[in-house]
Amino acid sequence: MSVKFTTPKGTHDILPEQHKYVTLIKKIVRHRCRQHGMRRISTPIFEDVDVFARTVGADSDIISKEMYVFDDKKGRTFALRPENTAGVMRSYLEHGMGSLPQPVSFYYFEPFFRYDKPQKGRYRQFHQYGVEIIGESDPALDAQCIKLMDVINHDLRIHEGLSLQINTIGCPKCRPEYIEQLKNYYFGKDRSMCSDCIARQHTNPLRLLDCKQEDCHILASLAPRMSTYLCEECKTYHATLKEYLDELGLQYTENEFLVRGLDYYTKTVFEYWDEKTGAQNAIGGGGRYDGLAEILGSSVHVPAVGFAAGVERMIERIKEQNVYVPDKDKVHVFVAQLGPEAKKKSLSLLYQLRDRGIKATGALGKASMKSQLRLADKFEADYCLILGQMEVLENTIILRDMKAGKQEIIPFAKTIDKLVKLIGEEELDYYHFFEPNA
Ligand code: AMP
Repeated sequence: MSVKFTTPKGTHDILPEQHKYVTLIKKIVRHRCRQHGMRRISTPIFEDVDVFARTVGADSDIISKEMYVFDDKKGRTFALRPENTAGVMRSYLEHGMGSLPQPVSFYYFEPFFRYDKPQKGRYRQFHQYGVEIIGESDPALDAQCIKLMDVINHDLRIHEGLSLQINTIGCPKCRPEYIEQLKNYYFGKDRSMCSDCIARQHTNPLRLLDCKQEDCHILASLAPRMSTYLCEECKTYHATLKEYLDELGLQYTENEFLVRGLDYYTKTVFEYWDEKTGAQNAIGGGGRYDGLAEILGSSVHVPAVGFAAGVERMIERIKEQNVYVPDKDKVHVFVAQLGPEAKKKSLSLLYQLRDRGIKATGALGKASMKSQLRLADKFEADYCLILGQMEVLENTIILRDMKAGKQEIIPFAKTIDKLVKLIGEEELDYYHFFEPNA
């Protein structure tokens, strides 16, 4: 079949057979975050462009090259969100969450948009789950973020072959002096630098340290190190963080070239890398961003820490590593019917089955019995219920075990009890919620 419309470049449909991966990740994330006392937040997909432009840093790649920006009918400029930290902090400030018990801990699972060059693991619409802990500064909170991501990777069985990289990029007290030294070091070396790095000297000097170009990499390896310039507070903070990581049994690589692309980070930065491909294919990363609230106009200092992880890259790992992924979509029962009376009866039977937690479907079109049975096979239903004119008259139904290829005639009234016994109470699909005092 020729198609006129396809998904825009760099985006993809999540087809039903792919959703089991998303569901698994979502469930594990929700479960672990709830255990940590975190609550879910969703902010709009688009925001005032300045929420990102001011905070992420106008010279970062995300803002200068990758943001989808548009004007609405009244000429206001918005951007599709490229990340979530700025939006969550905007929400925290807008709703006066500073008056709640601190820190306020959020988690999210949402789509994001970056006008990146699409390639494996890099898309224009992608999904991240992430965590933001806002309102307190303590290395124990940073350690908890780092550990939470590790725990989720373990739960998903994708932790093998990931390495934790950590660094500190100082604070407004000590970083300016380091940046000056970095600029001095790079001064006059334009001929050995890529064009991006030549610009970065003036716009985002820290990013000189993580350029992937070979010559730039060599230059960076000889550049002054942040660790030499850290103030006492940042030094102690980082040392304590490492003690906490040791306490939590986390192995890490100290990587002084890890800076992350965004302006708003202070002190801790971290990423989980694929050991084979390194920074190219990070599963996720984050850090502390104590200065973000003030950039967004807050008159109060609001320290915070968080991380984001890429769902598509996690799914890729789940597939590569052949992790078992439960699939709850398979139906238990297929109902086949023939004749107007049987069709009527099967329609209400389908609802009785579903009300009892049995996943049931049927061919309610005009197909012949033979093609309905073929469909039951294709749906890989465990059981098939067959209702013809004769069965309607006799108040019976045929129950066919599709795997065993055997069938029996049973009284219609016994259908549900019989199926529940065969399927097993624990396999039934219910949504339970209990009202207090009900
Ligand atoms: P970042 O905050 O930019 O480091 O993003 C956090 C994580 O999101 C990355 O480690 C990736 O796993 C994922 N990610 C970032 N950009 C993309 C993209 N364009 N396509 C798919 N995943 C992405």
